Amino acid sequence: MHFDSIIIGAGNGGLSAATRLATKGQKVLVLERHNVPGGCGTSFRRGRFEFEVALHQLSSMGSTEKPGDLRKLFSEYGIEDKIDWIEIESLYKVVLPSGFTCALPTNRVDAQNVLIERFPEEKANILRYYEVVYSFFDESEDFAKAQANSTGEPSDLKKFVVSKLFSKKYPTLAKYAMRSTQDVMDEFFKTKELQLCLNTYWCFMGMPPERFPFSILAKCTRIYIEDKPYYLRGGSQVISQALVESIKQHDGIVKLSCGVKQIIVKNKKAVGVIDEFGNEYTCDNVISNASPIDTYFKLLDKKDLPQSAIDQYRQYTVGISALTCFIGLDCPPDEIGFTDSFNLIYEDADCNNAFKNAYELMPTTDPLVTTCYTVDDPKVSPEGTSVITAGTLKYGKAWMELAEDEYYDTKYKACDIIIERLEKKFKGIRSHIEEIEIATPLTHMHYLHHPEGSIYGFEQDLNQSVFFFPREDQIENLTFANGWVNVCGFGPNYLYGATVADGILKGAK
Ligand SMILES: Cc1cc2nc3c(=O)[nH]c(=O)nc-3n(C[C@H](O)[C@H](O)[C@H](O)COP(=O)(O)OP(=O)(O)OC[C@H]3O[C@@H](n4cnc5c(N)ncnc54)[C@H](O)[C@@H]3O)c2cc1C
Repeated sequence: MHFDSIIIGAGNGGLSAATRLATKGQKVLVLERHNVPGGCGTSFRRGRFEFEVALHQLSSMGSTEKPGDLRKLFSEYGIEDKIDWIEIESLYKVVLPSGFTCALPTNRVDAQNVLIERFPEEKANILRYYEVVYSFFDESEDFAKAQANSTGEPSDLKKFVVSKLFSKKYPTLAKYAMRSTQDVMDEFFKTKELQLCLNTYWCFMGMPPERFPFSILAKCTRIYIEDKPYYLRGGSQVISQALVESIKQHDGIVKLSCGVKQIIVKNKKAVGVIDEFGNEYTCDNVISNASPIDTYFKLLDKKDLPQSAIDQYRQYTVGISALTCFIGLDCPPDEIGFTDSFNLIYEDADCNNAFKNAYELMPTTDPLVTTCYTVDDPKVSPEGTSVITAGTLKYGKAWMELAEDEYYDTKYKACDIIIERLEKKFKGIRSHIEEIEIATPLTHMHYLHHPEGSIYGFEQDLNQSVFFFPREDQIENLTFANGWVNVCGFGPNYLYGATVADGILKGAK
């Protein structure tokens, strides 16, 4: 059977690319190895609770009156009005070991005022910081638009970025684009607590502030304030399902429990795929939502693997995974003191130091990323209950080295440490646990099939992200739509999937 485009994997990037192509008239086939669509964008049931696997806060939605890029995209896909969107009321709450807590409102002026009230001596720095964040965002948007219209090679872009012309046209971008979050925090603020109130988004990309690009922090800060953080009733699985329906309505085919085992290459061009049952499908374009490592090194026949791909991917390091407890409580959130949806809880106020524990098995000192979905929508779980996820970022290697018979004991011990740490902040939580499930880096390896269970693709640090994503296609007609070649996350991947599809549609004209 012949298709215009075949998409390997039904994660956010893959589904979005497929939807865009299908709605524009292409004949598409999506092949997904798991029995549910969504990749990270999924949920599962235990007892009377539905647990969200990954989404804490959706970015780029905006309101119906002032839609953000993602809401516009979902409208084009015909799914925006089919979903119950929930606006989250605070950006996040930071909880420090000293007992210091700070919750930031989603409005810029209110957020500034909260910080100024807590840190009056840093008032001028706080105001100047937000100005820089907003200018940085505006310049980077202008720059991205100019790039989208350019016909240059990715290598030309790298040259332009280091040229004088660039710094003249984009002064804030030039000054801050290649700096770490820690470096910029130190330039602006003397108080460590204040830095922790402003650098929180490092945990969304799994890079400690000393390695986390300020460019991503600035974008997250601006986008979450202007477009507000969102969740949705039913969780991210609802979006995944809605995208599948949209693809089918446009005569696309989505096959679940049907992984791809080989990409067919002829004359150095991708011309089709073979699924795990041996069925062969031909196409004009292959879009991979699987990791480039799996795609190039497992799905291509060795004879088809170009040396350039080996050279390119040698430069990149596989990113971090996660250890997460999914908890269903038999009480409402306020009964144990949950007032904000998203909480970042530190055991060690030096978060660069605390991050080092991500390489170890036990979550003793790692920052705890804790979300209570019921705070903003009591209907996400049965009346009088709450749904919480609490986890830490963990590299996969230590988990991969565990002997099989050590795995279950280790994961329950790790879970117990997380609950003990939560108990200190939310008294009584342990006694209210009705359901609990634990995902480790091995769980993510199993379900996503990504190396080391990586949830954010390659490490999103200064050397490997932003202007340096590995976007050069090494095989003609084989391209990627996922978090391995782009800033990770839900919003960014839905939007990037559409961009990849547009590139294909342009080429097809
Ligand atoms: C615990 C956790 C918390 C997170 N928190 C957030 C958050 O709050 N906000 C946010 O924006 N992002 C968050 N993320 C990250 C976000 O979920 C991901 O960046 C994003 O969903 C990745 O999308 P993707 O398009 O790269 O596809 P993925 O979700 O990586 O999916 C890839 C798909 O490809 C399939 N596949 C792989 N190989 C094959 C094959 N050979 N054949 C067929 N199919 C194949 C897999 O089965 C999978 O379905 C989180 C992730 C996790 C796991």
